[in-house]
Amino acid sequence: MTTVSERPAELVARVVERLHEVLRPDQILTGRTDRLNRARVPAPFPVHRWAERLPDLAVLPETTEEVAAVVRIANELRMPVVPRDGGTGLTDGAVPLRGGIVVDVKRMNQVHELDLDNRTVTVGTGISMLKLNEQLAAHGLIYPDDPASYPCSLVGGRIGTSGWSLIGSRYGHTRDLVLSFDVVLPTGDVVHVGDGAGGKISKSSSGYQLKHLFMGHQGTLGIATRATLKLYPKPEAELSPFWAFDDYDDAYRFTGALARAGVATFSGAVLFDEWKVAYLRRDDEAYIPQPADVRALTCAVLYGWEDEVRAGGKRLFRIAREHGARYLGDEISEGDWAARHDRYATPLHGRTRTGQVVPMSWHCEDAAVNYTRLPAVMRAWHGIVADLRRRTDVFDDWGMFAYTSADTGVDYLTEIDVGIWEQRLDDDAWAMWVAAKRDIAAAALAHGGSISACHGSCREGEVDLVPSELGGGYEVMLGIKRLLDPNNIMNPGKYLLDLAYEPDATDRLADLRGLLP
Ligand SMILES: Cc1cc2nc3c(=O)[nH]c(=O)nc-3n(C[C@H](O)[C@H](O)[C@H](O)COP(=O)(O)OP(=O)(O)OC[C@H]3O[C@@H](n4cnc5c(N)ncnc54)[C@H](O)[C@@H]3O)c2cc1C
Repeated sequence: MTTVSERPAELVARVVERLHEVLRPDQILTGRTDRLNRARVPAPFPVHRWAERLPDLAVLPETTEEVAAVVRIANELRMPVVPRDGGTGLTDGAVPLRGGIVVDVKRMNQVHELDLDNRTVTVGTGISMLKLNEQLAAHGLIYPDDPASYPCSLVGGRIGTSGWSLIGSRYGHTRDLVLSFDVVLPTGDVVHVGDGAGGKISKSSSGYQLKHLFMGHQGTLGIATRATLKLYPKPEAELSPFWAFDDYDDAYRFTGALARAGVATFSGAVLFDEWKVAYLRRDDEAYIPQPADVRALTCAVLYGWEDEVRAGGKRLFRIAREHGARYLGDEISEGDWAARHDRYATPLHGRTRTGQVVPMSWHCEDAAVNYTRLPAVMRAWHGIVADLRRRTDVFDDWGMFAYTSADTGVDYLTEIDVGIWEQRLDDDAWAMWVAAKRDIAAAALAHGGSISACHGSCREGEVDLVPSELGGGYEVMLGIKRLLDPNNIMNPGKYLLDLAYEPDATDRLADLRGLLP
């Protein structure tokens, strides 16, 4: 396998020379700082090996045709291509594992067409939901894809990860909200995926559902350049009640009852466990002070017209009374829900076992699990992190939370946040962490869940279990990768898709499937 350091300088020079035929000089970045900036993701573990993941160069295309021209050159000269949007992905999807060309689509951030009658918007995939909604507000419309990374993740990255929205219980997630898009394939050909000739159809049964194939592949099948999105009326009212419990099980039962109530304006609920509340109280400076007996929290949110939100809210408050939930008041409720987009900016420190405060970075492991399995998965995951913590001070348990994935409460995204003392991370601690990640993923699978709830699962550890989760479907995935990317240039190394090109893939797959307890 060619690594960055092994790639001949003459090949890089040749690629740069060819790129000058299709791009302006200011669109081709070869400086070390530009390359370092585009290798950075929120948790670039293992930090001590970061330098191994530098791209050879980055490009800033402005049109689909430019992206296609870059990919065609890369395919011809066998240079890896890594699509990058906001760089906020939490599973290292945009990390150039084999170097190559980072295609940074941030300059493709225009609104190309706003269709007020059909309520769609067509955008360049380099636009963020925040910037888009600033423009849509003038028309009383909203694009309701709302991750906690709302201001800084971009539409193309949402497509690349098949992102999950905090208010998806009402509006759906990225896969529901993106109607169609243009994709530059690994060969440089361009296809449009989505239904109908106009690209604005949401109902169709013509052919295979290719839109979904080209979503959530972490940039391994192509680069989305232009997308048509579904719009909704901008909600007139928001209600975000915040309730406290002195016991996780009560909060859990209440959260399930909210999700199952069938309130149309219900847009989502979040359940914080005891560990998370303790961590927020202890180390998060943005934490809103609450009584010491609070051990678990449930936060719900409703969006819609004033009169329907008021009626829906009344019903939720009635359910709260039946479940002994303690309402924490308007000030806390509005403050905390509003803070969902910047909450993660604060935790940059954690604690050693003796309570000493040390700098730590945030790492999350998540999975989708059915409602009935949440308590068991929570206990299993805390057990795994507790075991790590017994062995070393490098890790700290920052608690778990769970969000509704759908309006019926059928499954939840649940996430455990782990603080990692990066300066102390060496090869031994890294190996310990990778094994723990594998155990965390295995626990989710053992409970019938999916190890990639919203971020994907490309990282060392959990990626090993993807073939087990997908079963025979994983072999179909290998076949598709081989077909669309004959030279393995598109984001190589992700999702173990190198197996598509290896003659002994069957043995290796058997080994991987043996990892499951
Ligand atoms: C504070 C914080 C909170 C977060 N909260 C959420 C959340 O609530 N819900 C959620 O879903 N995620 C969340 N995330 C994770 C992250 O924001 C999402 O995964 C997001 O979808 C990534 O978008 P991006 O533009 O940053 O993509 P990038 O990180 O640039 O890329 C992500 C992946 O998509 C590929 N890709 C990028 N652009 C394209 C393209 N144009 N075409 C094809 N593939 C492409 C990349 O190669 C990579 O594999 C959070 C992250 C942070 C830092």
